[in-house]
Amino acid sequence: MADPYVVGIDLGGSHVNAAVVDVTGNVAGQAESPIDRTRPPRDLLREDVARVVLDAMTVAGVERRAVRGVGMGLPGNIDRRRGVCRFSPNFRWHDVEVARPLEEALDLSVFLLNDVRSHTLGEMQFGAGRGVRSLAMLALGTGIGGGLVVNGRLIEGAHSAGGELGHITVDPLGPRCGCGNRGCVEALASGPAIVRAVAELAEVGGATGILALAGSLEAVTPAHVTQAARDGDVDALSILSEAGRWLGVAIATVLTAIDPERVLIGGGVGQAGELLLVPARREVARRCRMIRASETPIVAAQLGQEAGVLGAAALALESVGLLPGLLDASHTA
Ligand SMILES: [Zn+2]
Repeated sequence: MADPYVVGIDLGGSHVNAAVVDVTGNVAGQAESPIDRTRPPRDLLREDVARVVLDAMTVAGVERRAVRGVGMGLPGNIDRRRGVCRFSPNFRWHDVEVARPLEEALDLSVFLLNDVRSHTLGEMQFGAGRGVRSLAMLALGTGIGGGLVVNGRLIEGAHSAGGELGHITVDPLGPRCGCGNRGCVEALASGPAIVRAVAELAEVGGATGILALAGSLEAVTPAHVTQAARDGDVDALSILSEAGRWLGVAIATVLTAIDPERVLIGGGVGQAGELLLVPARREVARRCRMIRASETPIVAAQLGQEAGVLGAAALALESVGLLPGLLDASHTA
């Protein structure tokens, strides 16, 4: 019999990626396409997403009967048991049935999970979380997503919101977060927060090095700030150091709550690496007095751009029983 495969789908706000993956995490083939997130969800799923999955199978030279199941990560609050997206600010979806339309289009079982919870599974299985039983993951991008693993299993929580580490309050009177709260770590250390810090400096005549690199204030991205910091720009170093410090405050809270073996920092903004991690570790050491902070490595995630599809593949492999239980078994349909 042919080797079994699964398909991992990463559904983002502007693109969908799909990869055909084997049990060891090898990608046999993948495909991607831009999407229009304002399309009716049923059409988006049955047409655009399904087509990219079929394209990935064609590229991989893998037939449908060799595919055991499909996993999909997407931003928002996901009810994995019902295959429903309860709420996704990115798509403006409320209680949208997601798994079933895709199952009908593909004639395959489809399993859903929040995107960063799915990245966490991917890192556990194929990346920087291999070999540990407990883990906290934060993915820094447009927002900050999170995932927690305790005793070898992903924490999903009573309302599928367990592990939303980006919404830990780190500054009670801090800036407003997209979630409505004030001073979430997402409001202080995400990509938009870093860009806002550049704008604030620019307003008083600073950040000239970053502006020169980007061309204009409107064009500034976190990648420009990272690049400027690597070139020794003092403003960029201070902005990333401040973001890293807030990240450290959040990590200290996580360490105090669950004392994980390892903390992983991923996502596009996480590419800043040690520029964020050094101040984060310093802050953790300052705050965590119940644990010797040096005993909990705070390190970069490993899967990078592939985190989305490999995480979704790990979800599918787990859900069809090809990998040992990373999820709470009582949730399995
Ligand atoms: Zn928030």
